[in-house]
Amino acid sequence: MHRQNRSKYQYHLNKNYFLMKKTALFTIFWTLLIGPAIAQDLNNTPIPGIDKESFRKEIQLPDIPGYKTLKCDFHIHTVFSDGLVWPTVRITEAWEEGLDAIAITDHLEYKPHGKYVKGDHNSSYEIARPLAEAKDLILVRGGEITRGMPPGHLNGLFLEDVNALDKEDPFDAIREVDRQGGFIQWNHPGWKAQQPDTCIWMEMHQQLFEEGLIHGVEVFNHTEWYPVALDWCLNKNLAVMGNSDIHKVTAHQYHLNDSHRPMTLVFAKERTKESLKEAMFANRTVAWFDGKMAGPEKLLKALFKASLDIQQFKDSNKLKIKNIADMPFELSAGSQFNFTIPALGEVYITVPDKIEKVNIRNLYTQSTQCLTIDLKELTR
Ligand SMILES: [Zn+2]
Ligand SMILES: [Zn+2]
Repeated sequence: MHRQNRSKYQYHLNKNYFLMKKTALFTIFWTLLIGPAIAQDLNNTPIPGIDKESFRKEIQLPDIPGYKTLKCDFHIHTVFSDGLVWPTVRITEAWEEGLDAIAITDHLEYKPHGKYVKGDHNSSYEIARPLAEAKDLILVRGGEITRGMPPGHLNGLFLEDVNALDKEDPFDAIREVDRQGGFIQWNHPGWKAQQPDTCIWMEMHQQLFEEGLIHGVEVFNHTEWYPVALDWCLNKNLAVMGNSDIHKVTAHQYHLNDSHRPMTLVFAKERTKESLKEAMFANRTVAWFDGKMAGPEKLLKALFKASLDIQQFKDSNKLKIKNIADMPFELSAGSQFNFTIPALGEVYITVPDKIEKVNIRNLYTQSTQCLTIDLKELTR
């Protein structure tokens, strides 16, 4: 019995030995033949090309004479208030979407993740700053003063210390922004949760304005457009603002492949934070969203003219128009003359003899008024 078992064991050993020898020869043969093609680390084999590259999509908007056109978003949330993302994600998104400057503006008075996310009112800025510097993105320190209407919600921008805005009286918080040399923006004045049927400039806003405590108003916020607020800005000499007020990941909110978040275009002397601030206090801004731009006539005209390369054919009314901007322009002059110059596109048009002026329907110079331009001015 014992012997029999031993021989059986011997037989298995021999069988394994021949099997191993055969397998080794087989492996050597195939390794020599196709080895280089299938050589791989069986413990961890990287899959080439599977990692998504982070890249910046440049927004094509020309500079205007004397100024650089900076693409900005001055209203953004993170987990440090009611946003859903970590501050550094806001930097990567903005950089990939081609922005030049952003402000993270977490609510001072509303922090629903506070049980889990500690820190203070400066934390989101401080966490995001190193990545912003590495990506050469201008990061503005900000915070959102979050009160019932009036005065509603106001962003303090270009702050030194957001914690100092933590005050009971909204006037004291707003005055603190001013004391720090900050820019005060009235956010989403027509937000239905606070002004259900209207978008009204209230007595308290007048008081703030008279004290020099409102510097700009959002005409675009998130997915909304408040035409009446454009009239306030232009009539009261305030900066016209357009911002995302993003809480989710931007790619979950906007169609980023063929569109973009709401932005404020700031026409600054240099691409620096100081220059940006100077330009905003000087009201050199235009709000941009949903194929519309809204702002002062002078700036819209300068941007429109800088966007077009026009060639007039000799002795004819035929024009070749090339648009170098990521923005379509909808032109009209009466019912006979309507056409769109597509974003980054080129068109040939023949201008009827009697037409001297054209309206650019998607460039708003007032709530119900668009930019009008003399055709001679374009072709000169
Ligand atoms: Zn708000
Ligand atoms: Zn907000």
